[in-house]
Amino acid sequence: MREIHTDQLRDTVARLCIEACHLLPDSQVKGFQRAVETEVSPQGRTVLMKLIENDRIARENDVSYCHDTGLTVVYVEVGQDVHMRGGDYEAAVQEGVRKGYAEGYMRKSVVSDPLLRVNSNDNTPAVVHTGIVPGSQVRVTVLPKGGGSENWSTMKFLLPGEGAEGVKRFVLGAIEAAGGAACPPLTIGVGIGGSFDKVTAIAKQAILRDIGQHHPLPHIAQLEAELLESINRTGIGPQGYGGSTTALWVAVETYACHITALPVAVNIQCHANRRASAVI
Ligand code: SF4
Repeated sequence: MREIHTDQLRDTVARLCIEACHLLPDSQVKGFQRAVETEVSPQGRTVLMKLIENDRIARENDVSYCHDTGLTVVYVEVGQDVHMRGGDYEAAVQEGVRKGYAEGYMRKSVVSDPLLRVNSNDNTPAVVHTGIVPGSQVRVTVLPKGGGSENWSTMKFLLPGEGAEGVKRFVLGAIEAAGGAACPPLTIGVGIGGSFDKVTAIAKQAILRDIGQHHPLPHIAQLEAELLESINRTGIGPQGYGGSTTALWVAVETYACHITALPVAVNIQCHANRRASAVI
């Protein structure tokens, strides 16, 4: 049994919060650079170049890529041969978020009560997903989720007979409804199958995939490619200024489901497609 102190977990979460908010993943920046080459609209190209410049400024000055540093979503995969010592596990994760958002000078974007709307002033509580996996390591992923894109995410139970075409109609409708308000170019996570809770969980997990990383099943990879093509034909374009780059990537995750159901969820991620991971 390997022992890991909760202080190490706290400090890892804190470091990842700063890294995620300040540094876009390389695959995202490369996605912008490729899109500059293919974007048909001059305004769209200008926006993409501004996003590349924005990333450079954030890196050089060690500041947040976007003022909206999000509701913090933390995924922790705990090896079943790990013993966590030193204190309460969930409290350590929340303390890491508190520490990271203070030390990284990130905006505090969380209200403690959804109706009373009082800012918690430390970006907690984070949404924490914990899974038990084989092994003796702990993998931590921090995903700061911006409000402007999350607000356009949606789910629906389709009739099973609506099939892949129904899924495409629903996803496209969600993207058209969002227009420029979700801060495109987008990465779109689509969940298909599971239950009411599972389908939204896998849609969010899908946005953790790098641009260019297709689903291993050929029919799902084809659905991803077809969705990306039709979304980029909407003409919404970078930041809604028009153009051929409404999305950089579509990632679909699936799960088994009930014989009467075809649940679909769309989790929309903006151009601030931030995440950072570490293994303890
Ligand atoms: S939706 Fe994304 S890009 Fe837009 S303000 Fe929020 S974090 Fe920033």
